[in-house]
Formats: sequence, structure tokens, C-alpha cells
Amino acid sequence: MSEVQLKEAISTLKETGVRITPQRHAILEFLIASMAHPTADDIYKALEGKFPNMSVATVYNNLRVFREVGLVKELPYGDSSSRFDFVTSDHYHVICDDCGKIVDFHYPGLDEVEQLASHVTGFKVSNHRMEIYGTCADCANQKETH
Ligand SMILES: [Zn+2]
Ligand SMILES: [Zn+2]
Repeated sequence: MSEVQLKEAISTLKETGVRITPQRHAILEFLIASMAHPTADDIYKALEGKFPNMSVATVYNNLRVFREVGLVKELPYGDSSSRFDFVTSDHYHVICDDCGKIVDFHYPGLDEVEQLASHVTGFKVSNHRMEIYGTCADCANQKETH
């Protein structure tokens, strides 16, 4: 994992006046190390041994704080579970239909789509989200061997 990213994230928090608690530190560390786009529940389960008094709601509130200062992106999936992504640079996601794994990939930002959408609908466009779906290599391999 990147120590530099963690240091930068912490100084961003300091600059915006967000207090850095041990829990916040641990959540950030986990998010940066995890490439899996965890849910609040995943993070809770990974850290509950370290912080027995922490609840899922606490994790969620901390993630919201990170989102507000722009450190973390929330990817909502219906009402059930948002997944959280430490913001490095803009990227897109490919998602496995079988196991739900989310993998990052880089592709030039589709700015024209935003412009077109705005032009056609009169919306003031703020952002967009594109997801590619399929079967990941692990799941495809498993299917072949069965
Ligand atoms: Zn899969
Ligand atoms: Zn991502």
C-alpha cells in the first residue's frame, strides 16, 4: 500500500479541519490498501477486532466525512450497500456478474457524453458513471473446470 497516499490523505483532512481519530486513520489505511471497493460492512468486519466499540454506523459516518472532503467516492448500488473507493484519479469500473468484484480501469474521460446529455436535456451535468459488466477471469476459470 502507498504510504504517500495515506500521508497526503491525512494532510488533506488536517487542511479541512477534520479531526484524525485512530478509527479514521485505520479506515483510510484500509481503503487505500484495498483494491476491492469495500462496503461499510466490509470495513467494519476488517477493523472490528481493532476497535471493539466501533459500529457499522460509525464507519459509515466516517466514510461520509471522507466523501465530503473529496477523499472517497461513494458508489451507491440500490438501497442495500454502497461501495467506497479511495479517490486516486478518475477511472471506470468493470464489475463481475458472478462474484461482484469491481476492478478499476483507465480510459479517457467521456466528457462529450456529458456535454451531449446537457445539450439535449438542458441538465446542468455534474458527473457520470459508467460500468462494464461481465465475468472476471477467476469466475470464468472456475466455470471451465466444473
Ligand atoms: Zn468473478
Ligand atoms: Zn475504483
